Amino acid sequence: MWNKKQSPDPLRRVEILQNHLKAAESTARVSGRVAKQGHAIPQIRLSGSSATDRWGEIEKRIDVNISARHVHLTKTHLKHLFGEGHKLTPVAFLAGLPKEIAVEAGFASSDKVTIVGSKMGRQLAGVRILGPCRKHTQIELAYTDAIQIGIDAPVRISGDTKGSAPCIMIGPKGVLELKEGVIRAWRHIHMSPEQAAILNVESGELLAVRIVSPKCSVVLEDLMVRLVQLIPKHKNILKEKGIKLGLEVHLDTDEGNSCMVKDATHFELMKQNPTGAWTVIHASPSQK
Ligand SMILES: [Zn+2]
Repeated sequence: MWNKKQSPDPLRRVEILQNHLKAAESTARVSGRVAKQGHAIPQIRLSGSSATDRWGEIEKRIDVNISARHVHLTKTHLKHLFGEGHKLTPVAFLAGLPKEIAVEAGFASSDKVTIVGSKMGRQLAGVRILGPCRKHTQIELAYTDAIQIGIDAPVRISGDTKGSAPCIMIGPKGVLELKEGVIRAWRHIHMSPEQAAILNVESGELLAVRIVSPKCSVVLEDLMVRLVQLIPKHKNILKEKGIKLGLEVHLDTDEGNSCMVKDATHFELMKQNPTGAWTVIHASPSQK
């Protein structure tokens, strides 16, 4: 990713990279090399020029978090698996969200189920249920999880379960045989409409994220933009508490562990222009 003229030795490369990342607002240009399969592999050329700070009061932090395998259930399926009157008990909340919002928007419950696929004798036990209940039951597995139990899970954005993979789900009070519902979650980034406007990206657009991690940095393309539309009540709660949500990338365990994301030092967001070249549109040090 570096040519010899720019960077003659490894230590100098690190120094240049650190300086580059410190200047989070500088514009670094990236060019794409087209591989055999037609995928553009981002290559950074550090010819950045300083840009004015477009962010003002808007939060510009990038967080990258792993979503481990989990299940969303309909009210009907919850009742079938756990019995009449059962309620999910929140034990953890989606990153950055206070309890008041998370109980309505997303939380991890103490309840778990077992998922069975087509491989005899194999199962995934202790798969956590996320609340609140949804309109459609959905099981989100990493590719390795799915292979392990014999499920051919398609990559889908959350909520798009039509024609996805089948499974059997076992709860303490019942068993469900689902014809569809198992997906591998499409990697994505949550951001507010204000953050999207600054980055000049739209809902559903595919970006790339570069995760700089000791000895195992990666670039993940096909990162879908998902806009967070907070209702006024939730906006007010965040304002009252002084909480500012950053841009949040969600990966599955395969993706996150491949680059040891917990040890990552920096993140970069990239956008592809019509010629196929990639441009770094935002960068942030890891907050961990
Ligand atoms: Zn997400």
